[in-house]
Amino acid sequence: MLNDAAVHSVQPYQARKAYVCPGCDSWIEPGVGHVVVVPRLAPDLRRHWHRGCWFKDQRRRHGSAVPG
Ligand SMILES: [Zn+2]
Repeated sequence: MLNDAAVHSVQPYQARKAYVCPGCDSWIEPGVGHVVVVPRLAPDLRRHWHRGCWFKDQRRRHGSAVPG
């Protein structure tokens, strides 16, 4: 349940490693601000996403108020 996840902002100065973004399968380079998503029931499954990819994915999944 992605609704049941904590989303944390990672500031550029906090990003010290490269991660693969599950939204676009590209690297998030060190020094790039992004978000970290931590499922409340499975904190080990935290994933790092580009900010834009996360919000796009949320819109697709939940069909929220934002059109298009
Ligand atoms: Zn991405």
